[in-house]
Amino acid sequence: MTIQGTPPLAPSRAPSAWHAQALPAIYRALKTSDGGLSAAEAARRLATHGPNRLPEQAGLTPWQILLRQFQSPLIYVLALAAAVSAAVGDLKDAGFIGLVLAVNAAIGGFQEWRAERSSRALQQLLRVRASVQRDGEVSEIDAEGVVPGDVVWLESGNRVPADLRLTMAYGLEVDESLLTGESLAVAKDPSWPGAEATPLADRLNMAHAGSVVVRGRARGVAVATGMGTSVGQLARDVLGVAGGKPPLVERMARFSRAIAVVVLIAAVAVVLIGFLGHGHSLLEMFFFSVALAVSAIPEGLPAALTVALAIATTRMARRGVIVRRLPAVEGLGSCTLIASDKTGTLTCNELTVREVCLPGGEPLEVTGEGYVPEGQFLADGRPLGPGGDRPLQDLALAALLCNEADLHHRDGTWAWRGDPTDIGLLSMARKLGLGREEALARSPQVNQIPFEPEHKYAASYHEVDGSPRVFVKGAPERVLTMCDPACGPATGEDLRATAHAMAGRGFRVLALAEGAVSGGLDPTQAPPEPAGLRFLGFVGMIDPLRPGVSEAVAACHGAGITVWMVTGDHPVTALAIARDLGLADRPDQVVTGTELAQMPPEALREVTRTALVFARVTPRQKLELVEAARRGGHFVAVTGDGVNDAPALRASNIGVAMGKGGTDVAREAAELVVSDDNFATIVSGIEEGRVAYGNVRNVIFLLISTGGAEVVMATLALAAGLPLPLLPVQLLWLNLVTNGIQGVALAFEPGQGDELRRRPRPPGEPVFDRLMIERSVVSGLVMGLGGLGAFWWMLGAGWGVHSARNALLLLFVLYENIHIGIARSETKSAFRLSPLRSPFLLAGALAALLIHVAMLYLPAGHALLSTEPVGVLNWAVLIALALTVLVAMEIHKWSWRVRRCRTPSAAPEGQAP
Ligand code: ADP
Ligand code: MG
Repeated sequence: MTIQGTPPLAPSRAPSAWHAQALPAIYRALKTSDGGLSAAEAARRLATHGPNRLPEQAGLTPWQILLRQFQSPLIYVLALAAAVSAAVGDLKDAGFIGLVLAVNAAIGGFQEWRAERSSRALQQLLRVRASVQRDGEVSEIDAEGVVPGDVVWLESGNRVPADLRLTMAYGLEVDESLLTGESLAVAKDPSWPGAEATPLADRLNMAHAGSVVVRGRARGVAVATGMGTSVGQLARDVLGVAGGKPPLVERMARFSRAIAVVVLIAAVAVVLIGFLGHGHSLLEMFFFSVALAVSAIPEGLPAALTVALAIATTRMARRGVIVRRLPAVEGLGSCTLIASDKTGTLTCNELTVREVCLPGGEPLEVTGEGYVPEGQFLADGRPLGPGGDRPLQDLALAALLCNEADLHHRDGTWAWRGDPTDIGLLSMARKLGLGREEALARSPQVNQIPFEPEHKYAASYHEVDGSPRVFVKGAPERVLTMCDPACGPATGEDLRATAHAMAGRGFRVLALAEGAVSGGLDPTQAPPEPAGLRFLGFVGMIDPLRPGVSEAVAACHGAGITVWMVTGDHPVTALAIARDLGLADRPDQVVTGTELAQMPPEALREVTRTALVFARVTPRQKLELVEAARRGGHFVAVTGDGVNDAPALRASNIGVAMGKGGTDVAREAAELVVSDDNFATIVSGIEEGRVAYGNVRNVIFLLISTGGAEVVMATLALAAGLPLPLLPVQLLWLNLVTNGIQGVALAFEPGQGDELRRRPRPPGEPVFDRLMIERSVVSGLVMGLGGLGAFWWMLGAGWGVHSARNALLLLFVLYENIHIGIARSETKSAFRLSPLRSPFLLAGALAALLIHVAMLYLPAGHALLSTEPVGVLNWAVLIALALTVLVAMEIHKWSWRVRRCRTPSAAPEGQAP
């Protein structure tokens, strides 16, 4: 139906009244019909009503982000220092401190703003989808495009895109907890006669935007969208994405604050001791304290960490992994177990019927690839006549009627929509010349029990030649129990054996059956489980392995990661596929849901250690398995796509949802979304996660060890009665400008290529583990003592303090530049990593050096940093001195490698065996 022109659509109607209207009145008010809108009309309405979304949670404005950069204890200390400098007449220093603070805030703010913007761009990929009927055809669109009057189709796992008045529902149960706080799913009923005063929670003929379809299928007409929906009126922020800073950034920020407090206390103490005990001037001691604070507080750290995680997020996105919650980035590196779905993740989820087994008959072969219905039925290698014989047609009819998919020929190509199992069946029937529309026209549907993984079957009720009949398809053991033995020629045992043999050949096996319905049919009531059916036959479908998955499984094993297959499919099918993937090879590695159900809890724990394939499991058991594995010390990544996977996704350490085939609910429950649904992509994500975590550690190491060196130098200088080795402005320059550039450059470091050959890090491992502490102490001492020694020598040799500080400043810039080369790997020699591999690192080091050299030779540098040109000989000596840290760290790395060989368990970077 097309409506020309767009008179206003009764926008004044209170949304609360829709449930109390009769359907025809609603269609009239919304100028729509059972068949939905035309695409042109929908576009017009979208223009007048605006997109179907709630106003976004206001993000931080650039100004707010900038202001936030000033909220740190370090900034307060520095502002105080600037004020004191200004007060004693040193406007130059005050100005410089102010400038550095402004530049630092600008850089930090820019990075944070970019990170936030890119994360928002990625959120766009995760929009809710909706199936709408336009121009008579159902297609999937972005939920933002739904307009009032649209006819919307719902199935389990959907988030309801708009306020819908239901027109049809089968077994529909909806979780409305977002609106009502009631967590039990509500069964809906389109025929419920609404009274106007009914509260929201009891409006059984409505599905409200934001609620979740837990079970069943339905159709409804959109009566309100966007802010017009109940949820839009209830609250504006309920749909906000839960977020927060990644724990690592949070932890490091806390760490910085703790250091700041300690430093402030120490600084006050030092001032008092120096002033009272040693007769230094108060001003001198004040500046010393400021220098100490600047050295010790890792001011560049939060920014560098944010950058490191943002880079990881972008890199993952490029490889198809979208990060919904940042902690997942660091978590992925620790993953020790992946519990993967079979269908769609390990396999392509493009099911093709290859074999049909009729009751009492020999198996028929079906040719053809994919969904395109080009192929034949072969018996003993010879093609069947057109249409096949009666039993085959009966089976095909059941496959057509008990089906929720579409397959049609349009514009010279085949197009399809729906569940892959169902499309596969349609394609098979089409190879016999049978189509769903014709079958439905002859035998209209009156009721159905839609497929849900926990039931493992589907049933459809039809009016056939005036009497009601039911058509069933599903897992053989489920369907065979519904069959009446008297109806078929073969015994149940024979049939079970046949199904088992088909599963052993790697087929996903479905049984089909049909029967009369006793006692007529009430289309408004949920039908009981079918019984007394006539068995029609088995179909065996293949689902090709996804390319690259076997390699990814092997990579996981190399990386010390266990891979589980958790599937609703038959154990024998599952094992056949697991063998092809190299995931498991013995039947004793397969455990079924039935066995799990009978197990005491202790045995469950044992099973999670030995089994690799879990077949015929229910979503509930999937959750229990994940919990048991976590209790057993695993750090678990779980993949899932259905609404029933949501609990397991939430219970896992890292939930991975499928971007293409997955439901809205699964994607919302997950930390990561894999855009191509491919297992191999998850493994790339793990690799990137490990790279990111390594970079984060390296950045921390770089900043902490140089800060430590400065503290060592300043404290010892004070104790030895020397003047302050570096002025606060010079330290600021080092820590914020040159080291800041270097830290960010280090965060860009690409992986070293062996990330997937290492063991996972122990999940609880602290950032400051033994290795981190050792390397920080060694390099901090070497640089601190080297710097102090040089300073002491220069003063002794008659240099002015001014020149000595200038040389020392250059020494530290050189130290830092050599240090980033060292920091690239925790255990590998710096000589084994080519500097050309990471252009950013090279550019960062060069930029830091060039900026500093410019300061040596430009008047601005002389004025601000008290720098002066350095002679060639002095350059050479300083470079030689700076290289000592390289030597020291090479020795340390070597000694760590030697020690690791003796005690492999103490090695966080230990190689997998
Ligand atoms: P998987 O873990 O392979 O995704 P599912 O939970 O989707 O398994 O399916 C479990 C079993 O339910 C299948 O082995 C099959 O027997 C049956 N089944 C799957 N899809 C359908 C469907 N659309 N209609 C009827 N039965 C189905
Ligand atoms: Mg499935």
